[in-house]
Amino acid sequence: LLARGRDVCRRNGLLILSVLSVIVGCLLGFFLRTRHLSQQEISYFQFPGELLMRMLKMLILPLVVSSLMSGLASLDAKTSSRLGILTVAYYLWTTFLAVVVGIIMVSIIHPGGAAQKEMTEQSGKPVMSSADALLDLIRNMFPANLVEATFKQYRTKTTPVVKNPKAALEEAPPRRILIYGVQEENGSRVQNFALDLTPPPEIVYKSEPGTSDGMNVLGIVIFSATMGIMLGRMGDSGAPLVSFCQCLNESVMKIVAVAVWYFPFGIVFLIAGKILEMDDPKAVGKKLGFYAITVVCGLVVHGLFILPLLYFFITRKNPIVFIRGVLQALLIALATSSSSATLPITFKCLLENNHIDRRIARFVLPVGATINMDGTALYEAVAAIFIAQVNNYELDFGQIITISITATAASIGAAGIPQAGLVTMVIVLTSVGLPTDDINLIIAVDWALDRFRTMINVLGDALAAGIMAHICRKDFARDTGSEKLPPCET
Ligand code: ASP
Repeated sequence: LLARGRDVCRRNGLLILSVLSVIVGCLLGFFLRTRHLSQQEISYFQFPGELLMRMLKMLILPLVVSSLMSGLASLDAKTSSRLGILTVAYYLWTTFLAVVVGIIMVSIIHPGGAAQKEMTEQSGKPVMSSADALLDLIRNMFPANLVEATFKQYRTKTTPVVKNPKAALEEAPPRRILIYGVQEENGSRVQNFALDLTPPPEIVYKSEPGTSDGMNVLGIVIFSATMGIMLGRMGDSGAPLVSFCQCLNESVMKIVAVAVWYFPFGIVFLIAGKILEMDDPKAVGKKLGFYAITVVCGLVVHGLFILPLLYFFITRKNPIVFIRGVLQALLIALATSSSSATLPITFKCLLENNHIDRRIARFVLPVGATINMDGTALYEAVAAIFIAQVNNYELDFGQIITISITATAASIGAAGIPQAGLVTMVIVLTSVGLPTDDINLIIAVDWALDRFRTMINVLGDALAAGIMAHICRKDFARDTGSEKLPPCET
């Protein structure tokens, strides 16, 4: 028994360490909260965790570029287009399923209270219109400057401006209209009241091009995938670049193999540091608590039932064994809240533990980490309907359909970085005229929900790679059987 235990520990050492580090991180975080550390002490304490994030982020760019270029270049045109169409169709389908699960959960649990009145007009500020957000998504697919795309994305900035400010301030100063009155009940005065009927200043919203920090992974994915397809068509003349990308890919994976031993240590500080920073859990209201439970229940249903069942029905293989293989990636997703940063570990798990064909992983994973976010889509749908519920707005069927479509689009547009879904929520809310300011209502619990939805995002990508490997197995057996160029062995 002892020998068996030792064998299990040797084979799963890193995984066991990672699980332990999540537990130790939680315990340490809650213990240190009682010590009331200063902000500066907390930031020093978070340093090892920050290093983990930096290491992972450092690997994203070379990994995405090299895996897509070498992966697609090694496939013939027929195989790559079949894999591409199947993968994107599968991603859209599962994201839509996630949204449906979210809508069902939020309608059953009803965390925001009973709906009473019809929604009439948008009460929030139009931070950005849905059309602008959609155009930004398309613009980001075609970055004007590839170097800039490695650290910035395109974002339309919407700023409020007073229409004709001179007239507003000098020629026609705003007149205040106030009505005072007394409210009476049964003949006795209850309270004085004043109504301010001053017309609001006329404000228009101006949209201008701008940029925001964060890598434009979508643009880089589109560019690298196109380059990969073209390199594949170039035959021998493209071979040097393909060979370069293969070696780059293998060397990044070698760096990952060394860096993973630091991760359990980093995870402890990443998790404990976040717990030190969080608001008092008791301060989270009842409605917000129910909202968080709704999101988590939806994620559990989608991640532990729907996706594994899909995997089982398509591949006829045991999903539990598959999920066990990517457990370490899921823990990194939990610790970092970033599916892009988790990408190197997802690769490692799929290749080493689940033995997925690397040509499939090289395409399915980077594309998935960019456009396939089931957890984010589910959360966006739940959050939008929750905001409608707390405002007592009753959404009609058409608005629910709009939410499901925009939540799917917003999750595609969200970057694989912490709390990116919170930003793209604006698209969903404005599409049905909900107040965008109410995003503030859910911020208090978002850092925690982000970790769970990132786990589901990563799980969705990993299971997709397993499903694609099964569906396309014949194409890949036919398609030269291995890479066109001798791979640099890992
Ligand atoms: N943090 C998520 C991810 O990286 C995106 C989001 O939902 O905010 O996958």
